[in-house]
Amino acid sequence: MIEERFDAIVVGAGMAGNAAALTMAKRGMKVLQLERGEYSGSKNVQTAILDAHIVEQLIPDFREDAPLERRLVEQRFWLMDSRSHIGLRYRFNDCNDERPNRYIVIRALFDKWFSWKVREAGATVLYQTTVTELAQNRRGRVIGVRTDRQDGIIHADVVVLAEGVNGLLGTRAGWRERPTPDQVALQVKEMHILPRKTIEARFNLKRDEGVVIEAAGTISRGMTGIGFIYANRECISLGVGCLVSDLQRTGETPYGVLDRFKRYPSVEPLINGSELKEYSAHLIPKRGYNTIPQLYGKGWVVVGDAAELDNTSHCGRLNVAMISGRIAAEAIFRAKSRGGRSTSNSFSLYKKMLNESYEDLKKYKDMPALMHTQPDNFLLTHPQLVSKAIQNFARIGGRPKAGEEKSDSKSFGDVWSWTGLFGDGFRLPRAWR
Ligand SMILES: Cc1cc2nc3c(=O)[nH]c(=O)nc-3n(C[C@H](O)[C@H](O)[C@H](O)COP(=O)(O)OP(=O)(O)OC[C@H]3O[C@@H](n4cnc5c(N)ncnc54)[C@H](O)[C@@H]3O)c2cc1C
Repeated sequence: MIEERFDAIVVGAGMAGNAAALTMAKRGMKVLQLERGEYSGSKNVQTAILDAHIVEQLIPDFREDAPLERRLVEQRFWLMDSRSHIGLRYRFNDCNDERPNRYIVIRALFDKWFSWKVREAGATVLYQTTVTELAQNRRGRVIGVRTDRQDGIIHADVVVLAEGVNGLLGTRAGWRERPTPDQVALQVKEMHILPRKTIEARFNLKRDEGVVIEAAGTISRGMTGIGFIYANRECISLGVGCLVSDLQRTGETPYGVLDRFKRYPSVEPLINGSELKEYSAHLIPKRGYNTIPQLYGKGWVVVGDAAELDNTSHCGRLNVAMISGRIAAEAIFRAKSRGGRSTSNSFSLYKKMLNESYEDLKKYKDMPALMHTQPDNFLLTHPQLVSKAIQNFARIGGRPKAGEEKSDSKSFGDVWSWTGLFGDGFRLPRAWR
């Protein structure tokens, strides 16, 4: 039975919750963190790119003992149709320095380690404990939480909601709306086991080097979605994610899309002969800057996926989650240091600091709308047209090039229009700028 009062209670031990709990515990605050899973990351199947700079702000010497799969040295972007892909390969040599700046991590392993660091910093962490309700006083101020472990309230000055994409507590309290099907993607993923040397040979990697491939095109058949492949130490993570509303509209199943992706000739040789170890699915928020809900109130703040902090255009949700957790914790600490009880006003600093630190969210605020309203163009029509044009350019065949180019132009005109292409060419940089 927990009778004591805490400076802060953190709900959830994902990236955002761990960053918040660690930061406050390091500042000497009395922190209780509650996680419903068996341990932090116990059900998390994500493979992700970890930004070293962001972890360093929390744990400067993390490279010494963190479970890092590989240092990321190359990113590949593929525009695919069913028989070919056009690729962009970006290899960065600064990742070969002594202190690489990005790593591939498997979340189940990384989160467990991260949680151990939180406990080491002095926070009390309870697993297999679900927060069932936020306790509020008559004036609506959050004063603590109720859990499935014990009767009564566990009291705290502030509750940090780091409960992930579903955000049930925040939704029930009326601080955020339940995401609609066009605001979440369903991501399905598999882990394929292969010997380390085989992975390195197939992806052209030296020891410890890692590569990530992101693929768009006909795999999603006009739905807003992408495929991804991560070369880990001894396995390959491979998956696809599509907007839930698009899956409903087309009647496609996520498994069907993933199967198609795996059969593409650009993908199949990478996983050939592997042993399938895991299969999993998860919802991903896809709302972006324009729909960020209320971030704080009397006695509470919300961080990470629960606050829908998604950077649509760069693969960085877990990094955004860590930033928001750390910044919220800093704002809470500053409010506490000024003395007295925290008011909702004192947490306005969180929003201010977040805005300053996370300009990208604002910069790409129009990208989700553009990609969701024009998926056929960007993910189906354009890839097919570009692929055909490059094929005709590169292939040495019996037919004269002039004739092939004319036929390309005609088939393009049948499907779409030059004005449509130019329109998209104009809209994309505008959303990007
Ligand atoms: C099971 C799982 C699988 C995932 N798989 C993928 C994936 O394949 N690809 C991908 O891109 N992203 C995936 N994610 C999401 C990714 O981890 C997050 O987007 C990102 O790390 C943001 O972190 P977060 O801390 O905000 O949320 P999360 O990492 O989702 O952490 C939230 C934590 O809160 C806990 N929690 C929720 N409600 C309560 C409650 N009432 N009481 C106590 N604890 C609670 C959850 O168990 C979870 O550990 C997955 C997350 C989870 C939980």
